[in-house]
Amino acid sequence: MNQWQIGNVKITRVIEMEITGGTRFILPQATRDAVSKIDWLTPHFADPDGNLIMSIHALVVETPTRKMIVDTCIGNDKQRSVPNWTNLQLPFLEDLSKAGYETGDIDTVMCTHLHVDHVGWNTMLVDGEWVPTFPNARYLMGKQEYEYWDKVESDKTRSEADADQLNRGVMGDSVRPVFDAGLVDLVDMDHRVCDEVFLEPTTGHTPGHVSIHIRSEGAEALITGDSIHHPCQIEHLDWASSADFDQTASTATRASLMDKYADEDILIIGTHFATPTAGHLRTKDAGGKGYWLDPAI
Ligand SMILES: [Zn+2]
Repeated sequence: MNQWQIGNVKITRVIEMEITGGTRFILPQATRDAVSKIDWLTPHFADPDGNLIMSIHALVVETPTRKMIVDTCIGNDKQRSVPNWTNLQLPFLEDLSKAGYETGDIDTVMCTHLHVDHVGWNTMLVDGEWVPTFPNARYLMGKQEYEYWDKVESDKTRSEADADQLNRGVMGDSVRPVFDAGLVDLVDMDHRVCDEVFLEPTTGHTPGHVSIHIRSEGAEALITGDSIHHPCQIEHLDWASSADFDQTASTATRASLMDKYADEDILIIGTHFATPTAGHLRTKDAGGKGYWLDPAI
C-alpha cells in the first residue's frame, strides 16, 4: 500500500530505495538473533534471518488547500560518506510525477529534521549548481533544528569521529541553497501548517525533531520521522539509534508515543518503515505489557 486517505487528506508514498540488512550500524542492538525473536516483524519489517528491512521514501500530503512533501530522502548527485548513498542516480522525480505530482505543484516542503536522508531532494544539481527542486514551495524547517545544525557546521573544531559526521556536506548542498533562494520559513515545533496538519515535537533523535500530525473529518495519522526508525523499536523502546543525538530522550519520546497512541484510532506512518509502511500501535494481549505495530495491509 502506497497511499492512505485520512478524512480529506491523501497521503502518497514515493520510494527512493528499500534495503534489507546492512542497516545494523543504525540500530546496533538489533542483531539478527534479537530481531528473529520478534515474530510480528516478519514478513514486512524483517526477513526470516533477522535482517531488518527499511525504506527511504518521501510522503506527499495533499489537503484541500496544500500539496506538501514530507522529508526529501537522499537526493541525486550528492557526495556522501555512506557508500550506498553517494552520487545516486535514481528516478525519484519521475516516480513523483507518476504519483501525480510535478515539482512545480508542491507548495510546502517539510523536513522532520535535517539529516542526510531527509533533505536530499530539497535541491537538485543543474549546470553545476544546487537549485531548489520545488521552486514554488515554502520550505518549513524547525527553528531549533536549523540553529543546531548551523552551529555544528560552523564549529571548525569538529573531528572526523564526530557523531554528526554522517551529515557532513548536507547544509551546504541541501539546506543553504533553499535559504539563499528565500524559500525557508523557520517554524516552532508545534507549528500548524494548515487546518488538517500540525507539527508535534518528538525530540531525541535530533534536538529539534518533529513528527507530522494529520487530523481530518475525525480520522488521524502521525508521520513519525525518525522518532521511530524501525518498528523493532516499538518492541524495544530502548533500542536507540546510533544516529540519535540524545538516546535517553529518544527512548522517552518513544515511550510517550506509546502512552498517547497505543490502541487509539491513529494510523502511524513510518518515515523508514518498509511496505506496508503504516499500522496501528497496539498493546500486547498478555497483561497489556509491551507494544507492537499492527501493519495496515
Ligand atoms: Zn535521522
